[in-house]
Amino acid sequence: MSIQHLIRPTIQALKPYSSARDEFKGEKEDLIFLDANENPFDNGINRYPDPQQTALKSVLSELKNVPVANILLGNGSDEVLDLLIRMFCEPNVDNIVILPPTYGMYEVLANINAVKTLKVNLSAEEFQPQTAKILETADANSKILFLCSPNNPTGNSFKVSTIEGLLNDFKGIVVIDEAYIDFSSDKSWVSRLQEFPNLVVTQTLSKAYGMAGIRLGMCFASSEIIATLNKIKPPYNVNTLTQKRAIEGFKNSRLFETEIGCLLEERKVLSKALEDVNFVKNIYLSDANFIMIKVDDANKRYQQLIDHGIVIRNRTSQPLCDNCLRLTVGTTKENTHLIETLKSL
Ligand SMILES: *Cc1c(COP(=O)(O)O)cnc(C)c1O
Repeated sequence: MSIQHLIRPTIQALKPYSSARDEFKGEKEDLIFLDANENPFDNGINRYPDPQQTALKSVLSELKNVPVANILLGNGSDEVLDLLIRMFCEPNVDNIVILPPTYGMYEVLANINAVKTLKVNLSAEEFQPQTAKILETADANSKILFLCSPNNPTGNSFKVSTIEGLLNDFKGIVVIDEAYIDFSSDKSWVSRLQEFPNLVVTQTLSKAYGMAGIRLGMCFASSEIIATLNKIKPPYNVNTLTQKRAIEGFKNSRLFETEIGCLLEERKVLSKALEDVNFVKNIYLSDANFIMIKVDDANKRYQQLIDHGIVIRNRTSQPLCDNCLRLTVGTTKENTHLIETLKSL
């Protein structure tokens, strides 16, 4: 399967902006740069950032065991998702397919780009993709299928065999949003890029890596897809401070592993403690750093928690999420306080 025909003609024909710095990077150290109208006085950030994030990508390449040619970085994974829609979906013609209840940004980004969203709910009991219905709903203009696994807000991962089936049978790009993959016991799909030319995997530094503030999203795909995304991304979309801080973060893998271990333990403790809250009707199994629960009256409990100074996410208006709340796993102290408060209501 070639994916060339899925790319918008406008994008295929596009000649990208080229910065002078792109052409001269990696040459002699003592070049004098008078090409970009920067302020010449060195303060560490007076120069434009590296548009290709070379140093950061080489660290990432080793860490994820993926060649640099298969990596694109963005200003958060939200930017990556937006670029993907703009690369494949012709406004007012093409559509994307999403599987509610899921992450809200897919539809918002599609709307911004005048791209229609087709929706096929997850199965009611297990929150798994309904393959037959998805393939039936998709049409010739369905360019991207978004799979969020582990899924936000339900917290579960999709079955490997189900995703394999969709990768094989969906006639467009399959984006697997792995924002929560580091909390899951399932393997990342990044290791299977070679097998599926239509597979795109996105990850982020905003959740497990503890760096939501720097805005860094990662995209892993075939070199063909990555090359085109590089053509359409804003040249300086990842700033200098972010590139530096991300490298520091990646090098401290011990902290990363300690924090994840801690959050997984806390997730277990929190799930168990929720069983003793009398208005909690269901605690869904989570592969992420949050837990979805069903309560007697989500709007009421949500407001009560706010009155006690605790902000959670009310998901009751989402399909299949009647009276459901989503709780992020916090520190031991925060979780203990949450449980005590819930029990006191
Ligand atoms: C939080 C979240 C993101 C956002 O990632 P950023 O890198 O912060 O833009 C993407 N996808 C899902 C499913 C998320 O929950």
